[in-house]
Amino acid sequence: MLNPGQRQPYFPSPAPGQAPGPAAAAPAQVQAATAATVKAHHDQHSHHPQQQLDIEPDRPIGYGAFGVVWSVTDPRDGKRVALKKMPNVFQNLVSCKRVFRELKMLCFFKHDNVLSALDILQPPHIDYFEEIYVVTELMQSDLHKIIVSPQPLSSDHVKVFLYQILRGLKYLHSAGILHRDIKPGNLLVNSNCVLKICDFGLARVEELDESRHMTQEVVTQYYWAPEILMGSRHYSNAIDICSVGCIFAELLGRRILFQAQSPIQQLDLITDLLGTPSLEAMRTACEGAKAHILRGPHKQPSLPVLYTLSSQATHEAVHLLCRMLVFDPSKRISAKDALAHPYLDEGRLRYHTCMCKCCFSTSTGRVYTSDFEPVTNPKFDDTFEKNLSSVRQVKEIIHQFILEQQKGNRVPLCINPQSAAFKSFISSTVAQPSEMPPSPLVWE
Ligand SMILES: [Zn+2]
Repeated sequence: MLNPGQRQPYFPSPAPGQAPGPAAAAPAQVQAATAATVKAHHDQHSHHPQQQLDIEPDRPIGYGAFGVVWSVTDPRDGKRVALKKMPNVFQNLVSCKRVFRELKMLCFFKHDNVLSALDILQPPHIDYFEEIYVVTELMQSDLHKIIVSPQPLSSDHVKVFLYQILRGLKYLHSAGILHRDIKPGNLLVNSNCVLKICDFGLARVEELDESRHMTQEVVTQYYWAPEILMGSRHYSNAIDICSVGCIFAELLGRRILFQAQSPIQQLDLITDLLGTPSLEAMRTACEGAKAHILRGPHKQPSLPVLYTLSSQATHEAVHLLCRMLVFDPSKRISAKDALAHPYLDEGRLRYHTCMCKCCFSTSTGRVYTSDFEPVTNPKFDDTFEKNLSSVRQVKEIIHQFILEQQKGNRVPLCINPQSAAFKSFISSTVAQPSEMPPSPLVWE
């Protein structure tokens, strides 16, 4: 039985050497390591004594859209942390820019429901600088693993998970950032049910000018918003809300809401539930997609079917779900407004009573924060991207950026080539094409 807020782990981490999730298939032969993959950079800081730690072996955790994640020990304090390798960064200008954007975002985020960079490993001399390694907090599981596990999920779990997803998303959207790949596997969960949004490989800053086209390399198909499926050239942060609606329904029903084999079938499943959209709701869609909808039979909405998802699909739950699963993005609820829905009151109370870091307990009771769902000000600034023009130039800028991040008191970390896990870590590559988000349909 799982209980949000208790210290006891709900989702025990796998035995050392046993890789959970997609990484289980990876040919990583991790032997009992005698030294961590990561070591403190003592050459420049010889006043810090070498630490001898009895540590678990390093092991792979999984793959993001762009990068491989390992669980390693921080030799400075013995804590287990996640180490993400961003490989092939400097192949071309597009990949350089994407990685630099993700790196800047990870260093910008300061929110308990959004994964951020704890550290970046010391880069070598610029002539040998090919890969970037980011240290983040280690999380034991993710929502995908939890949903497909036999663990029971009470309505308290669903509420506290949904509350945290929306709390993180409100923060991201306030920063002007669209995540674009919200899916259960990108929602990390630790043993106390604290949830963090991760993987910003596809995230970008929202484009407020509707005449500017945005790329369509977004979101795993099952969680795609209809405007993406219909080839909209311009979309808003409402695409993330649609993904959250799909995940909310998946938490209730323990199965994927719209599990289609192709983007066209995906769109058909959405219209089966929501009914045929009006022309107004399809105004940003491309002509081919509109023609597909208009050619088909006229469908009535069948939203009451959401009550059959589970016994936890109460009137309040379905009411909120129906505000997220709205065809017209301009009529879809925002993260901020969703957080004001009465369905989330219990999740908020539970989170701030025993899970958050923003409130604290005293001998006379709990002292609550003045702002339960904070936003960020100023927004994330992506104007730096405009002046990036060559791989060599971006490489120098990233190199400098990483060195600037390390002007703290802590000893810089670097990769330990003597580590037993080093070889398999260094040879682990980015996700295979089949694991990448599929390309959107090109409508005729
Ligand atoms: Zn709090």
